[in-house]
Amino acid sequence: GKGLAVFTSGGDSQGMNAAVRSVVRMGIYLGCKVYFIREGYQGMVDGGDNIEEANWSSVSSIIHKGGTIIGSARCMDFIKREGRLKAACNLVTRGITNLVVIGGDGSLTGANLFRQEWSSLLDELLENNRITKDQREKYKYLHIAGMVGSIDNDFCGTDMTIGTDSALHRIIEAIDAIVSTAYSHQRTFIMEVMGRHCGYLAVVTALSSEADFVFIPEAPPSVDWKDKLCDNYLALVAALASEADQVFIPEDPVPNNWVEKLCKRLQQERRSGQRLNIIIVAEGAIDREGKPITAELVKKVVVENLKQDTRITVLGHVQRGGSPSAFDRILGCRMGAEAVMALMEATPETEACVVTLDGNQAVRLPLMDCVHRTKAVAKAMADKNWDLAVQLRGRS
Ligand code: ATP
Repeated sequence: GKGLAVFTSGGDSQGMNAAVRSVVRMGIYLGCKVYFIREGYQGMVDGGDNIEEANWSSVSSIIHKGGTIIGSARCMDFIKREGRLKAACNLVTRGITNLVVIGGDGSLTGANLFRQEWSSLLDELLENNRITKDQREKYKYLHIAGMVGSIDNDFCGTDMTIGTDSALHRIIEAIDAIVSTAYSHQRTFIMEVMGRHCGYLAVVTALSSEADFVFIPEAPPSVDWKDKLCDNYLALVAALASEADQVFIPEDPVPNNWVEKLCKRLQQERRSGQRLNIIIVAEGAIDREGKPITAELVKKVVVENLKQDTRITVLGHVQRGGSPSAFDRILGCRMGAEAVMALMEATPETEACVVTLDGNQAVRLPLMDCVHRTKAVAKAMADKNWDLAVQLRGRS
């Protein structure tokens, strides 16, 4: 059978195990010899026990677990050709020419580079007598299929990344808990959620928890921003399911008048009989000048202007941990199966692909197109062109 390996790389997320399980079982079902590579690219470079053959039962009882049982890491060695040469040697000596990478845009970029260099890496290994002529010929093509595991939903080309739905569940649970205690003491709570470059988690949780205010990296958005967001299938569902009118999104293009808007909004709410206020701040929230809007800064504003009893809760890695939601388990399963199918159908000309979600379908897209679009979003954000960023990030 064909040699196929699966690994997880970059930040972990819930649902990665479901994806690993699906790749292993689909691979075995289709007659492949399937391997785990532990600790991401580091395991590929180091070889040895890090590359281990998997069997049907080695992925039993993992679908409900958060994180990734095969470990994930960032790996400096793989950035250098010397590291990739070692990795290629480790794969060829085991007969692995099909790779499923589960990670973020960095991990996918690395995989694509590896595929492009494969032929020259094998030539060098042959020259140095580290592989045989037969191996050079037999394993001359490397096939790559990617999946995106990230709670941030920050990758272009997919409606949802693996882990986002579970993180939303975790955040909502935390906000509900905070709301009950905030009510008792008439407090204002500022919740910092993850999303260094993408306000998706913050916006969706704000919509579904009746937050009074939300700060996101794409802020302050233009007036039609909310409509654009609704291009995204799940955000639309969240907006419809919640009382979206009660959510305030800072939408004035005038720099820095968010202080006035925020205070007015909080005061209005209290005057109308609300006993508490909830403000959601995405980790990477900024103002129109690009200055960070941190939870501490928001607290200072609220305390100085309104004298409200104000507390901060930073959810941190709780959002990334714990068991995956049903949605993420199924998403991982479907994407994993599709990734293996893509590899089995690949010809020498087939470009590396990434399996994404389009509506309710798992589809294959050219990996580098999606990576380039994701990088273009980052550039648009850095250029303070938020409209372009939101437009580029929209559904494919
Ligand atoms: P996250 O979204 O969680 O940050 P990521 O996959 O984008 O995930 P990175 O740290 O960017 O995370 O990349 C993970 C690993 O992928 C790196 O440590 C490195 O080993 C490899 N990698 C990233 N970019 C490249 C590249 N341009 N060339 C070779 N390898 C790369």
